[in-house]
Amino acid sequence: MGLAVIFSRGRSGIQAPQVLVEVHIANGLPCLNMVGLAETAVKESKDRVRGALLNSHFDFPAQRITVNLAPADLPKEGGRFDLAIALGILAASEQIPLAKLADYECIGELSLGGDLRPIKGVLPIAIQAFKAGRTLILPKENSAEAALVKGIKLIPASHLLEVCAYLSGAKSSVPQNSDENLSKDLTSELNTDSANNLRLQSNATSTNICSKNINYETDKDSESPLTIPAPSSNKDISSKPNTLTDADSDKATDNLIESDSSDTKFNIDTVTRIKPSLNKETLVIDTPAYIIEELDFADVHGQYHVKRAFEIAAAGAHNLLLIGPPGTGKSMLAARLPSILPLLTEHQAQESAAIASISDQGFSVANWLKPPYRAPHHTASAVALVGGGSNPKPGEISLAHNGTLFLDELPEFDRKVLEVLREPLESGHITISRAAHQVDFPARFQLIGAMNPCPCGYLGDSSGRCHCTSEQVSRYRAKVSGPLLDRIDMHLEVPRVSHDVLRRGAPEGEESSASIRTRVIAARNLALARSGKANSALSAKEVKQICILNEASHELLEKAMTKFGLSHRAYHRILKLARTIADLANAKDISLQHLSEAISYRKLDRTK
Ligand SMILES: [Zn+2]
Repeated sequence: MGLAVIFSRGRSGIQAPQVLVEVHIANGLPCLNMVGLAETAVKESKDRVRGALLNSHFDFPAQRITVNLAPADLPKEGGRFDLAIALGILAASEQIPLAKLADYECIGELSLGGDLRPIKGVLPIAIQAFKAGRTLILPKENSAEAALVKGIKLIPASHLLEVCAYLSGAKSSVPQNSDENLSKDLTSELNTDSANNLRLQSNATSTNICSKNINYETDKDSESPLTIPAPSSNKDISSKPNTLTDADSDKATDNLIESDSSDTKFNIDTVTRIKPSLNKETLVIDTPAYIIEELDFADVHGQYHVKRAFEIAAAGAHNLLLIGPPGTGKSMLAARLPSILPLLTEHQAQESAAIASISDQGFSVANWLKPPYRAPHHTASAVALVGGGSNPKPGEISLAHNGTLFLDELPEFDRKVLEVLREPLESGHITISRAAHQVDFPARFQLIGAMNPCPCGYLGDSSGRCHCTSEQVSRYRAKVSGPLLDRIDMHLEVPRVSHDVLRRGAPEGEESSASIRTRVIAARNLALARSGKANSALSAKEVKQICILNEASHELLEKAMTKFGLSHRAYHRILKLARTIADLANAKDISLQHLSEAISYRKLDRTK
């Protein structure tokens, strides 16, 4: 007879609220009951746990076992509670010591043989476990992702027996700085700016996505959050039916890692907040490995004005729409945008990684600091694009947070789906409401769209293949609504490239992404130094202060406004674009030339 309480974590949006796994063993007919709004996969956990315990040669108590997952109103999913339930049963039946479990949080799915299997969404769990000041016991496969949280103490294990050996103090663990091993190489120079970076969160017009049910357990545990548990004697385990040999324990505990970096001032709280695009720091010009390995603008022959537009879009984080017949390389060009974008800051990287971590695909540590690039197909449902489900998961627009969302064949997307984009394009986040609860996902992405000029795709093509009527053309274009178009800073035509250029390319060779990226970062740094954000994120008030025109430019813009019937929003977009063009030229003031180039990127306004 006994009661054990183990800390674990569930999922709600990109949060990982605490779940208490309470195990009570009482006299009565042998059975195992599970209560607390558990899904099927969680309910099945009793069979997995039973198998894992028996196959690890522990006793499975022939008594009445009740497992309660609290809070009861939080939906529980997957096999993530298996380890906590197993440890709860072992502790309640006094097969492992109960005392120390309060310092740990446990996650992981168990196999029938007792192996620990990885779970989804580890990064948000690690962030919250660190905040609660507890050590996280987790499957070994998940440890690289969890170690991205600086200063966290981890006990990665691959079998239930390893965890039990550790908790029974068979051998003290060897503390290692896992964040120094891993995060350091990953975050490189940006680390030094993290404190500065984090301080800036508070004054940002941030949307707080912390859900209310997060407990700030830090106070309670403030005394012992980062101490290494002292080893206790072997007798707890050796007196029980399961006997771990010394060799077992040695093997087990050798694998355990505790990353102890109590000196770090990293404040995890900030990770759960969204701030507008970029912070006031200088980006460094470097060439990350993925740029060398992956797609390069040098692969695309010709299309110089389109490459120029991408350079401007990258420098100012402007939205861009490409219009051209099929096969002119629109998606090929768009896929190369990440190769000229600056790396994410550490804060941005954590936000993006946390979103990817809870998605079906999961997060790959290799993508740390890399701006995400998402290209959903036009048949994608609204849920796939914006997120949803009974326990809502992030959609493509959130997976593209801090990166690029490429929508090919833009008019082919369901119009309702496209209209949903308007809100996140302005606010940088999306709220998904469900009967039971509401979750908020960050979604600040750079939109790159591509479309054909007409339904058949060959309008204006020299082949003369297009027989679309003007009515068909306007109906096709009207699928992309005016308000959505207004939120896209640049629209330009991508014509067919002559065979000669296609074959030979530029005589001096095409410019590489690395070379374009150098200019992009220099221009972005000018914007960051001036306003602390990319030019596309400037408010109307800031546009007035920053994007100042001379008399001649004013006249030109007035004329363009009247001639093309530009909206107020388009007016501001042109000014921001002109500022980015001036930044790329390292010019203090916006000249007539910069402005006229900006106006030239409003193709669809002119054909309205
Ligand atoms: Zn046509």
